[in-house]
Amino acid sequence: MNVRGNLYIIAAPSGAGKTSLVKALLTHDNRVRVSVSHTTRSMRPGEHNGVDYNFVSMADFDALIADNQFLEYAEVFTNKYGTSRAWVEGQLDLGVDVILEIDWQGAQQVREQMPENISIFILPPSRAALESRLTGRGQDDAEVIKHRMSKAVSEMQHYDEFDYVVINDDFDLALNDLQSIFCAERLKRASQQRRYADLLQDLLSV
Ligand code: 5GP
Repeated sequence: MNVRGNLYIIAAPSGAGKTSLVKALLTHDNRVRVSVSHTTRSMRPGEHNGVDYNFVSMADFDALIADNQFLEYAEVFTNKYGTSRAWVEGQLDLGVDVILEIDWQGAQQVREQMPENISIFILPPSRAALESRLTGRGQDDAEVIKHRMSKAVSEMQHYDEFDYVVINDDFDLALNDLQSIFCAERLKRASQQRRYADLLQDLLSV
């Protein structure tokens, strides 16, 4: 029987480098997968359906809600986003660790349903660094940047609902922090007891 995987929630304001960190984490760790969310927002250049998101219409999204298909869902800046319950449960049952890259609203819903989750919040190293990451290539006007900053600040106001906080100043150090969390969680006694039940029985028999 597989040892059930761990469920990780990773949240961050836009511009904190969450997506790049998670991508790097995955290339070094084949025991973890990221849930591909459903969204009603339109596809951005370079994105692929089924890879970055499952892009669906508002009507299809609402039908999935009615059918209780989402572990959590939320409206984030006028678009809807949701996590497939069946996919997450299936992976956990296979013993795979699952990452949900979701916002604080989704995190609150998952905490209620799966309290054994492990949650991580990624922060930028300074307000100035965040602002410069949100400024893009200098093509956006001041109002747009101000709006992005205020959205980022409202997301960050929820950092204290999370178990771990990683500051993404130096990318490699932040990645190492993230990997350390995954490593430590797997080494917890309860996990090890399930994983090494046979070994422990053998070692402890008199
Ligand atoms: P973006 O549209 O820039 O890819 O994502 C916007 C926000 O939606 C980010 O904060 C992201 O974490 C969040 N998000 C993405 N997928 C989900 C999801 O399935 N559920 C929730 N609650 N938030 C999501």
